[in-house]
Amino acid sequence: MNEAFFRLGIFLILFALLGLAETFYPRRVLKTAKVQRWQSNLGLFVIDVLAQRITLGAIVFSAALLAHAKGWGLFQAVGWPFGVEAAIALLVLDAAIYLQHVATHKIPWLWRLHRVHHADLDVDLTTGLRFHPIEILLSALYKAGIVLVLGVDPMVVLVYEALLSAFALFTHANIALPVTWDRRLRLLVCTPDMHRRHHSIDRPETDSNYGNILSLWDRLGRSYFEQPRLGQDGVVLGLKEERDAARLNLGRLLLMPFTRVHRRG
Ligand SMILES: [Zn+2]
Ligand SMILES: [Zn+2]
Repeated sequence: MNEAFFRLGIFLILFALLGLAETFYPRRVLKTAKVQRWQSNLGLFVIDVLAQRITLGAIVFSAALLAHAKGWGLFQAVGWPFGVEAAIALLVLDAAIYLQHVATHKIPWLWRLHRVHHADLDVDLTTGLRFHPIEILLSALYKAGIVLVLGVDPMVVLVYEALLSAFALFTHANIALPVTWDRRLRLLVCTPDMHRRHHSIDRPETDSNYGNILSLWDRLGRSYFEQPRLGQDGVVLGLKEERDAARLNLGRLLLMPFTRVHRRG
C-alpha cells in the first residue's frame, strides 16, 4: 500500500469527523475569525507537506525500509517477537517526541520555530497542523534517526505516523468531551482539555502538558497539570507578544522565526 495515501486517507476521515464534532459540540467560542486562521494553518500544512515531499520525502518510512533491508538497528540484532518490538518502538517514539517538544520550549532557536504553533489566538483542529516547515523537517530527521537506531519495522512506523497525525488533530480539537470521558481518557492518552493548557498565554502553563499520544510522559516528567488556572473557558490562548490577529497571516508566520520578538507586558 502507498504510504502517502494511507496517511492522507486517515487524515481526511478524521479531519471531517472532528470538524463535525467541533461544529456541533464546541468547547469554547472562538475569539477570532476562522477564515484567516484556517488560511494560515491550512496554508502552512500544505507548505509543510510539499516541503517534506520535495526535500526529505517519506524519510521516516524510508529509514525503516532501509534498516529492514540491511538488518540494521537494535531490534534486528535481538530478534524479539514482533508484538514486543512494536510495543517498545511505539513507546520509545512517543517518549522521544515528548522530549523533542520539551526541547522546542527550552532551547531558544528551536522556540523561535515552535512559537509559530503557539501564536494561534484560538485552538481548533487546524492548530494541530500549524507548524513551521523547518520544525517539521527537523522533526522528520530526528524520527528517522531513532527508527534507524532501533531498526523499527516499516509497518510499525506507518501505524505510529498515523497515530501521531490523528492525535495532533484530536488534542487540538475544540470539542466538548464529557468530563467523565476526558478523565478516563487522560489515564492513558492526551485529551483536548489537557493540551489546551499548553496553549495558554501564561508561560508556566505553556511549559506543561507536552505529550502527543500518551499522558504517561508528562506524569513521569512532572509536567502534567490538570487544568488551566482560569479554567477551560477563561484561559487566554496564544502568545503575549502576538495579539494582533490581522498580522498572523501565512507570510508573516513563515518569517516569524527570523524576525525580532517584541515582548509586551
Ligand atoms: Zn509547545
Ligand atoms: Zn499544540
